[in-house]
Amino acid sequence: MSFIVAIDGPAGSGKGTVTKLVAEKLNFITIDTGAMYRSAALEAVRKNIAPDDNEGLKKMMDNISIELKKVDNVQKVYLNGEDVTKEIRTPLIDENSSKYSAIPYIREKITPIQRKMGENGNVIMEGRDIGTVVFPDADVKIFLDASDEEIANRRYKQDLERGMNVTYEQVLEDIKRRNKNDSNRAVAPLKKAEDAIYIDSTNLTIDEVVDKVIEIIENKMKEKNI
Ligand code: C5P
Repeated sequence: MSFIVAIDGPAGSGKGTVTKLVAEKLNFITIDTGAMYRSAALEAVRKNIAPDDNEGLKKMMDNISIELKKVDNVQKVYLNGEDVTKEIRTPLIDENSSKYSAIPYIREKITPIQRKMGENGNVIMEGRDIGTVVFPDADVKIFLDASDEEIANRRYKQDLERGMNVTYEQVLEDIKRRNKNDSNRAVAPLKKAEDAIYIDSTNLTIDEVVDKVIEIIENKMKEKNI
């Protein structure tokens, strides 16, 4: 038996941080589905396989191994056995993950792996299409949103802390472009599931969002006598 929480939303809405904190408090497993699309994009970039090279992408996806593992309490991402946890979080891969994730064959290969990962235990899975495509019957569905300007603000601060040389305008443009790509693609676009609970985090602190999500999950668990 598993209890599945789906958290979807645009890049920068705080899904990752909220998922991590909620999971720690409730002792749930977390699954970062974006990390899987990022790993596929990294592989394509490294092998120089263009988004329109169907044959090349098919061959790549038929031989790829992507694993999410907790090592010493840190969530790690492995691409064909190599630790790529850091390498998948660069602006180059931000941009490319959004391009390659729109390709149907890539999604066809990754979606079943995600379903399998959610089969056992209490799981919070975060992404873009979890409540709509991966687990349309999830026990709890949340759509976490924020304004583009607030998302860019948060990302800009993070980038400066990481020592990156960017302007607020560049960050805002990147965020807008990526979220537009994700929302407008033909297959599994970023979209609120009809029955998802909408949370706008623009004017909320992380703790406020975490408390709301925990309350929603606990109420549902009570309702199901878990
Ligand atoms: O969540 P994150 O920003 O790390 O995701 C990187 C990219 O992967 C997104 O911009 C999106 O294009 C893609 N993605 C997706 N479906 C998911 C999760 C991520 O298409 N479930």
